[in-house]
Amino acid sequence: MYMEVKNIRNFVVIAHIDHGKSTLADRMLEITNTIEKRKMREQVLDQMELEREKGITIKMQPVRMVYHANRGSNAKIEEEYILNLIDTPGHIDFSYEVSRALQAVEGAILLVDATQGVEAQTITNVLMAKSLGLKVIPVLNKIDLASAMIDESKKELEDLLKCKGDEVLQVSAKTGEGVEELLSRVIEVVPPPKYEYADKSRALVFDFSYSLHRGVIVYVRVTDGEIKKGDELAFAGSGEKFIVHEVGTFNPQEETREKLSPGEIGYIVTNIKKPAMGTVGDSIISPKNPLPALPGYMQPKPVVFASVYPTSADNFNNLKHALEILHLSDSSLNFEEESSGALGRGYRCGFLGMLHLEIITERLKREFYLEFVVAQPTITYTVKLLNGEQVNVYSPAVFPEEHLIKTIFEPWIEVNIITPPDRLGGILQIIYDHEARVSLTEQFGEARNILKAEMPLRELMRGLFEEIKSASAGYASLNYKIIGMREAPKGWITRLDILVADELVPALSRITSRKRIEREAEELVEKLKNLVPRALFVIKIQARGMGRIIASRTISALKKDVTGYLYGGDRTRKMKLWAKQKRGKSRMKESGKVNIPNDVFVKMMQ
Ligand code: GDP
Ligand code: MG
Repeated sequence: MYMEVKNIRNFVVIAHIDHGKSTLADRMLEITNTIEKRKMREQVLDQMELEREKGITIKMQPVRMVYHANRGSNAKIEEEYILNLIDTPGHIDFSYEVSRALQAVEGAILLVDATQGVEAQTITNVLMAKSLGLKVIPVLNKIDLASAMIDESKKELEDLLKCKGDEVLQVSAKTGEGVEELLSRVIEVVPPPKYEYADKSRALVFDFSYSLHRGVIVYVRVTDGEIKKGDELAFAGSGEKFIVHEVGTFNPQEETREKLSPGEIGYIVTNIKKPAMGTVGDSIISPKNPLPALPGYMQPKPVVFASVYPTSADNFNNLKHALEILHLSDSSLNFEEESSGALGRGYRCGFLGMLHLEIITERLKREFYLEFVVAQPTITYTVKLLNGEQVNVYSPAVFPEEHLIKTIFEPWIEVNIITPPDRLGGILQIIYDHEARVSLTEQFGEARNILKAEMPLRELMRGLFEEIKSASAGYASLNYKIIGMREAPKGWITRLDILVADELVPALSRITSRKRIEREAEELVEKLKNLVPRALFVIKIQARGMGRIIASRTISALKKDVTGYLYGGDRTRKMKLWAKQKRGKSRMKESGKVNIPNDVFVKMMQ
């Protein structure tokens, strides 16, 4: 027997990046007086420093709002509703955040920027929401803009959702127009949460945070029973028990409450001080009266790998701790201890994409004050050797020598691109250049095309997003999924090494294709030339691949004015000093060591 919680609605806002999710959340927070006017700022839910700087949402953010419905025209009774909203990121690298948020709610507002129309990520989001059986509310945003293509976008939503045009609401998250109606629609069509047991507690863990004082804080959606301070609970997966120190809801700051009831979204302070104990998707249960665990989450597979090495060995444990804490709230971050002779001891980390990698390394620096070297990121390759062995390569530095290789297998992806028809030609050219095999182009909605193709993941990582963006003036969008490993043409994939002052720099090795190796070699040495600080001697920078030096640069020596303090006078004294300096330089050159500062490695990746 299921019971309904009549006055609660749990929902997410999903959309392609920049379609206005966080701004829409702002208006809802205002309408419901959740945040005082004077404390309001744009995209208030983007609280992380990095989010504000980059203007994007990285973490999902839950917030609880109290809304008095039917205040408008023919209201008879005022009813109070609790609306739990989860704002989500829009970038494809953070789809996993979205998928977790979706499992904690019953409905989704699907927001589409009317000046852009439906985009690739919109489709991915809709498929995820539908597969979980959520009620989807289609909404067009930015209708205040003159460039809004309301009819075209509406038609695209009709096609995508198989709904009627008049079901599509129109709002401006900027001016607030239509947002009250949207809240009424949420109350009307999103199903209230249901629960089975009133006396047995169970909750789905959809996120975590960690604080030094309070330990692990669990973000939950309560599915059954109540949770309150003093309760003894446990993680179903790990079996780890704890006493509830505090419960509360998101305001969006944490706000203490007496208890959390079925259907509610909130947090539990556990006081557990080891970050590596729980995972998202786990269930919180009562060990005395345990309900079975809820179905968990699919663990996403990393797409890009990069090795991270602390600059000093003392920092190895700090790096480990930092990765564990980040992993708590982002279980898509993978890491495994690794030691490669040249680089020392570090972690091989797996990410869901390049933006994910960038964000994590930034957070390691800013939130944990760590100094480290990040090796050139790579995707995985499976290499069959002539001696019959097979190796999975996650790091360019250990990619086997060419004469040992029999065959190489690499990941392939399926991409979907949505574009205005007049950009299609240009886009096809770009993706053919990236070794794509186009499987389909067809009309999408009234005014656009959708294009499906398969290509090596390696090529997506070679600036495909940016190229398509600029070829379409931002009007085309792309998403992808991995479809499997395929054999690469013989000799096509190869390793490119960088030598600085005749020494191999393992962190700068990369795996590339024959077609790109020369251009990449040139780009790399040129970039390095501008990043490596000059020394008192000439520094040679070389790129080596396919058994030869492909590109090289030299950084001229720094002329240190060793005679500056000598005023006028005897020139022979100056000559003597110059001669001494020259000897010193050649000695230094012999010892030959160039110290490459850490930030060079980070900059080389960008
Ligand atoms: P998100 O990535 O989906 O969270 O998008 P944001 O809420 O961060 O908004 C992206 C940009 O669109 C910001 O510059 C907003 O100010 C702008 N924006 C959002 N909604 C509207 C709207 O209704 N009208 C206009 N003119 N701009 C909007
Ligand atoms: Mg946002």
